[in-house]
Amino acid sequence: MARGEFFWTKYYPEGVPEQIEIPSVPLYHLLEQAVQRHPNNIATIFMGHKLTFTQLKEQVDRFATALDALGVKKGDRVAVMLPNCPQTVIAYYAIVSIGAVAVMTNPLYMERELSHQLRDADVQTLIYLDALGQKVFNVLPQTRVKNLIVTGVQDYLPLPLNLLYPIKAKKQGQVLDVPKDRGILRFKELLQRHSPQPPRVQLDPENDLALLQYTGGTTGLSKGAMLTHKNLVANVMQVRSWFPDCQEGEERILGALPFFHVFGMTVVMNFAIYCCSTMILLPRFEIDTVLQQINKYRPTLFPGAPTMYVAVISHPEVKKYDISSIKACISGAAPLPVEVQEKFESLTGGKLVEGYGLTESSPVTHSNPIYGTRIAGSIGQPVPNTNVKIMDTELGTREMPLGEIGELCIKGPQVMKGYWNMPDETAKTLRDGWLYTGDIARMDEQGFTYIVDRKKDMVIAGGYNIYPREVEEVLYEHDKVQEAVVAGVPDPYRGETLKAYIILKEGQQASEQEIIDFCYKHLAKYKVPKKVEFRDELPKTMVGKILRRILVEEEKAKLEKA
Ligand code: AMP
Repeated sequence: MARGEFFWTKYYPEGVPEQIEIPSVPLYHLLEQAVQRHPNNIATIFMGHKLTFTQLKEQVDRFATALDALGVKKGDRVAVMLPNCPQTVIAYYAIVSIGAVAVMTNPLYMERELSHQLRDADVQTLIYLDALGQKVFNVLPQTRVKNLIVTGVQDYLPLPLNLLYPIKAKKQGQVLDVPKDRGILRFKELLQRHSPQPPRVQLDPENDLALLQYTGGTTGLSKGAMLTHKNLVANVMQVRSWFPDCQEGEERILGALPFFHVFGMTVVMNFAIYCCSTMILLPRFEIDTVLQQINKYRPTLFPGAPTMYVAVISHPEVKKYDISSIKACISGAAPLPVEVQEKFESLTGGKLVEGYGLTESSPVTHSNPIYGTRIAGSIGQPVPNTNVKIMDTELGTREMPLGEIGELCIKGPQVMKGYWNMPDETAKTLRDGWLYTGDIARMDEQGFTYIVDRKKDMVIAGGYNIYPREVEEVLYEHDKVQEAVVAGVPDPYRGETLKAYIILKEGQQASEQEIIDFCYKHLAKYKVPKKVEFRDELPKTMVGKILRRILVEEEKAKLEKA
């Protein structure tokens, strides 16, 4: 008997609709609605500084007018390189409100990563944090960026920057190497100078892009996932429908996940605006500050990555803080250990459920029910309007019977339009409207899905995604390295940790630290291998492809023996 599409929806928990209607509206509409419904609700709290929805929208509109005055047009890409702070929300909504495309950039990127992203997206306007100035100026000559807009977290807060963000504040009197051929505009001045009257732009939510969100790839170069207004609006509604208990205008959401990653962007930023909720913005995850903020501002929702919950439960003085306001948390990005879930729930009295998603799907496709039967070790069921099938891993043309392992494929309104300027990659990943996730999984008759492995080589260490190829490319640039491979080896705390295996050129000697230091110069900190092993040879296939899997298995065996 044919199972048919969406056969699992009859097993949805009470209150969760089988299908939802998703209107074709631009993303900015969410903010307009929030202002209409709850104008005086607090939209953002940033270290004590508050903005209501009315104030937020006014600043968004002022900034949008400023972007328009700078010549930013519909379809232009505008990069935002900021930690979580009010300016991130303002810049993002201003960009999408005039039909431009936001390119969210990780502030921890090193120059080569930043340069690739700015060039690939052909960014001409960049909004950045003042502490990142030198890095930005160094890559400018390689890009077409012409408008630079700088801000500091102190624009909203008279606090020394280094207290808030782990980048060394400028030393007193230090002069940055400011490019001579262009002026730098100050975010705050633009808000003061421009009225809140941006141009009205005609948008087609189904086709016009709101976001180019960069994600890694096996080629080593990151790819821009093209997400439309409809994709992002749909995903926020899908997440909301999964959570019938969510009270419009009542919730407070902890903004611990960074908004430059699509998980934090959708599940915290856009979700908070859609539900007219308050977001408590944290520029970085520093556990003492996190606990103080929870204690003080009493968030009801705390979306996060497993390592964040681990940090909370392992804090020696967690009981000193009142964290009982937390009622629901969705954990994503990596598997959630059951002990972590149980301990976190007993400490807070709230629910912590595991979900799943990827950049290419805005990102949420699955979640365990918040109030219903959860299955430990499962990523849960597909959220409403999300169709799923498991395909064979060789060609991806044969649907696997229920319970059998294959590649997880997704179809739904949250699935991207394709990769930016990469038709071949797009054709491989999107087939007949189905997104081939690269994750190997199985699914039961109730739709509960279990991730078994990753087809792509991506490593997730401490919640960060690392693409081995990119790290290997850096290692190959080292004078003494003949061959290098990087693998994610098991690590009890981080899930996985990055280890480099290196064959040195003949007659060369190098220390582990030398290699690690070299990587620190060229890669964001989280991508630097924590361990290095020198070898005379590496396991390879017949065609010379290095077998990462064997290296990982060796490491697992060592751990088991220990
Ligand atoms: P990104 O595009 O950065 O959001 O990374 C997406 C990838 O993270 C997925 O393709 C999965 O490999 C992984 N991932 C996300 N959530 C989970 C989860 N709950 N369990 C295991 N892997 C996950």
